[in-house]
Amino acid sequence: MQTNEETNYDQLWKDVLSEIEMTTSKTSFSMWFKDTGISNFNDGVVYIGVPNNFVKDWLLNKYHKFIIGALRNNNPAIRGVDYIIVSKDHQDIITKNTAPHKFTYTPSSGEQLGFNEFNTDKEANLNPRYTFDSYVVAPFNEIAHAAAISVAKNPGNLYNPLFIYGGVGLGKTHLLQSIGNEMKKNNPSAKVYYLTSEKFANEYVSSIQNKTTNSFKEKYRKYNLLIVDDIQFFSDKLKIQEEFFHVFNSLYESGNQIVFSSDKSPQHIVGLEERLRSRFEGGMMIDVSPPEYEERLAILKVKVSQKNFTLDEDVINYIAEVIKENIRELEGALNSIIGQSKIRGRILTLSEVEEILRKKIKPIKVVDAEHVIKTILNYYKINEKNLTERTRRKEIVKPRQIAMYILRNDLNTSYPHIGRRFGQKDHTTVIHAYKKISEDIRRDKKLEQEINNIRDIIYK
Ligand code: ADP
Ligand code: MG
Repeated sequence: MQTNEETNYDQLWKDVLSEIEMTTSKTSFSMWFKDTGISNFNDGVVYIGVPNNFVKDWLLNKYHKFIIGALRNNNPAIRGVDYIIVSKDHQDIITKNTAPHKFTYTPSSGEQLGFNEFNTDKEANLNPRYTFDSYVVAPFNEIAHAAAISVAKNPGNLYNPLFIYGGVGLGKTHLLQSIGNEMKKNNPSAKVYYLTSEKFANEYVSSIQNKTTNSFKEKYRKYNLLIVDDIQFFSDKLKIQEEFFHVFNSLYESGNQIVFSSDKSPQHIVGLEERLRSRFEGGMMIDVSPPEYEERLAILKVKVSQKNFTLDEDVINYIAEVIKENIRELEGALNSIIGQSKIRGRILTLSEVEEILRKKIKPIKVVDAEHVIKTILNYYKINEKNLTERTRRKEIVKPRQIAMYILRNDLNTSYPHIGRRFGQKDHTTVIHAYKKISEDIRRDKKLEQEINNIRDIIYK
């Protein structure tokens, strides 16, 4: 009989594989991941069973980043990954740290993990898990959701391109994939394709190496719906941007729909060509913000019932209260709790849940305006008096504008409030400073770096 723990490994690996599958080519995916599975999970380290050294090295060199990323998306408690060779008869383990663990898991044959069914739609590269049905709508995402629905119903018409941006784990990929799945459902012959901008870049580079750029170009011009996730990866890759620009134009001009996501708005993507930026901004841009407490609560309730699980009201309230970052973290917390509960064979108490989540909760450093200002004064070696001084000297004006910018951008301090702190300066002066720095960052990478250094000190 399988223990709950093993079943959890199964599910975890399945989730990871379906994430990885979306970012790799079909061939590499089945070549490298076919006979893999989680052998053990111990003290935050996941041991992945692989069939031989060759696969082990390959995964380590080429996929390690993806694997650990995908694992952590599903369970943020995971700290590390190791690869061990599990022989075909699943018995002896030939590994560098030979057998300190008892391996209860057998590597997946195709069927065991349902290897062929992750993507019912391999051609479109869509994961059937991501649908509008499974997407919880709340005020923080309802505009993005509504736009996504319109696009799925009426592609190439209203909002083209659709550009959704916001922080990690807020449901961008889920939404983008839902558009694809919905469009395929309504119109099975529609040519839909989802990929990450990173994959686009990789494909383009290999098409150059293999001298197949023509078929590459052709391929991308035939879609009715092209979904490009995480477009921020195009940052500074000018050749790729150029290639993509042509793809975009040809799709757009023939009335096909293009959908993007990014972790920041086009104007904040450094090293993005102006013409591409203006194409992005020419359609519909929508941002998704992090969910508020009530919204996190609603999401948790839906997720708990989707997973056929029950949790006490006070436990759900507690999770929603302490896991603030994003939905991915919420799911991760929930998965850990459900996992633990299955292992112990009972519903957990609130204090047990607190114990589990304590490790996940990042201590949030409370940063106030005075701390920001003090850091900036130190950084530029100027003093408090300079803040209010009437001067146009650059070595004073610049730090002052940066301080105003960070107070506004990071702490959301009101313009009039900032003005008062800087010696009764009019709020339009503050707005001017904010706009100026925002624009300068776009052009000036050194300045951006400088401000990020300051942020590192502020939030350290
Ligand atoms: P992003 O692409 O913005 O980083 P994802 O789309 O990968 O975020 O979402 C992270 C996880 O949270 C996924 O498992 C996704 O299914 C889930 N999720 C995000 N938003 C929602 C939502 N509104 N309703 C249900 N699940 C969601
Ligand atoms: Mg994403």
